[in-house]
Amino acid sequence: KELPGDPRSDVIPRKVLHACYSKVSPSVQVNDPQLVSWSDSVADLLDLDPKEFQRPDFPLLLSGAKPLPGAMPYAQCYGGHQFGRWAGQLGDGRAITLGEVLNSRGERWELQLKGAGRTPYSRFSDGLAVLRSSIREFLGSEAMHCLGIPTTRALCLLTTGRGVVRDMFYDGNPKEEPGAIVCRVSQSFLRFGSYQIHASRGKEDLEIVKKLADYAIRHHFPHIEKRSMNRSDTSNKYAAWVVEVAERTATLFARWQGVGFTHGVLNTDNMSILGQTIDYGPFGFLDGFDPSYTPNTTDLPGRRYCFANQPDIGLWNIAQFAEALAAAELINEKEADYAMERYGDKFMDEYESMMTKKLGLSKYNKEMISELLNNMAVDKVDYTNFFRLLSNVKANHNTPDDDEELLKPLEAVLLDIGKERKEAWIKWVRGYIQEVSCGSDITSSDEERKARMDLVNPKYILRNYLCQSAIDAAEQGDFSEVNNLIRLMKRPYEEQPGMEKYAGLPPAWAYRPGVCMLSCSS
Ligand code: AMP
Ligand code: MG
Ligand code: MG
Repeated sequence: KELPGDPRSDVIPRKVLHACYSKVSPSVQVNDPQLVSWSDSVADLLDLDPKEFQRPDFPLLLSGAKPLPGAMPYAQCYGGHQFGRWAGQLGDGRAITLGEVLNSRGERWELQLKGAGRTPYSRFSDGLAVLRSSIREFLGSEAMHCLGIPTTRALCLLTTGRGVVRDMFYDGNPKEEPGAIVCRVSQSFLRFGSYQIHASRGKEDLEIVKKLADYAIRHHFPHIEKRSMNRSDTSNKYAAWVVEVAERTATLFARWQGVGFTHGVLNTDNMSILGQTIDYGPFGFLDGFDPSYTPNTTDLPGRRYCFANQPDIGLWNIAQFAEALAAAELINEKEADYAMERYGDKFMDEYESMMTKKLGLSKYNKEMISELLNNMAVDKVDYTNFFRLLSNVKANHNTPDDDEELLKPLEAVLLDIGKERKEAWIKWVRGYIQEVSCGSDITSSDEERKARMDLVNPKYILRNYLCQSAIDAAEQGDFSEVNNLIRLMKRPYEEQPGMEKYAGLPPAWAYRPGVCMLSCSS
């Protein structure tokens, strides 16, 4: 409800009751905004002619400074469990949806500006985004997509030309940082928390949970809608839906484990109902293998969202989602339990099949994989490069008797390990060679196995330090490194001559205290 006389009454922080969203226009202040990077493949999704990026008013339109004709901007209301505790209403505090684009293939894509100013959900904050976190969201989401992992996308990255005040180290010394906006793109930004908020608000709002579930099924799970239209089908469409959400989430989380992606803030408001990676904040890819890796400093020392905990957290989050649907009586307890069971089974299926492929084996070998991960954790072996190099181990040619020779292909990732540890690796590699050569029912050559393995083990990954280098340069006005990375990350599984240095281990500076420090909302 507008308060007379207050031009921005639409953004007064408040509880938005009985509604899924609030109409709100971008209010970000810009000063000569600049388009600094974009994704051609996202433009393609939107049927956007790349020439449009050259339009002089493009940065104004995509920063929200100039209204986009036909747009009806709004911010969503949602809630969530943050670090295991119900946090009540959260909502799009700094994201504003401009509207949907219906492309020539009949797909709907939602365009959302992150960092475009305050909304009723901004609580105590400014609704803005700084350049460093915008670069991370832009590069992170495009890199994940190119790895083949479901994710929201990013059309472009703009600088606003205005400063944003942040206290990065919480040391009471706030400093002004460059402001930026990412235009995010997805078929839906609905989250588990979009359902939880209404379920939490008592009887009156349970009808909204149902409406929003019907909406999601109709638009985003049309096969479930279609089945339910069939008169002879008496099954519960909401039960089918929660199972599919659970299965998609399981698949997503398994894929994350495969590339060493750690989300950092797996609160239920950061869980997409489409099973996509959403809300790139303090995320990180593993360098040296460390199951307790926690990129988000806000999550220390609890490490709730560390790398190894992610699969369990997915289940916990699904349980909260199912509970919201159960509160609205869309599913019963048995159906909720079944969704959780499916999450577990689907995760294990996906994880086992993925690890089998990563090792180039023909069947899952639990002992071999646990022993490997154990060894990797002890020696902090680089997670990306190890699997990439493993494909060079020869199994069907003469296996070297000489131990040094045997470990040669893995030399670059097994530097600095002591004699005793070397023995553990020799034992594992010999077992591996045996498994590949004899235990295999696929009679394939080493070359064939290498080709298969290289399709699932990326050579290039968006390592934290690479992101940080691009950010450091961008903060000095040089966006060439952002653009180098966006180009490089397009083909993460291919050898890219001349780009070898991007596949290297992090340099010493990356480990200096505070250098690659990340935290929740910035
Ligand atoms: P996150 O930790 O990024 O998932 O954010 C949690 C909540 O805080 C969400 O409701 C965000 O919209 C909100 N939020 C984060 N940063 C800002 C900001 N700079 N201004 C307003 N709201 C924010
Ligand atoms: Mg979030
Ligand atoms: Mg966020």
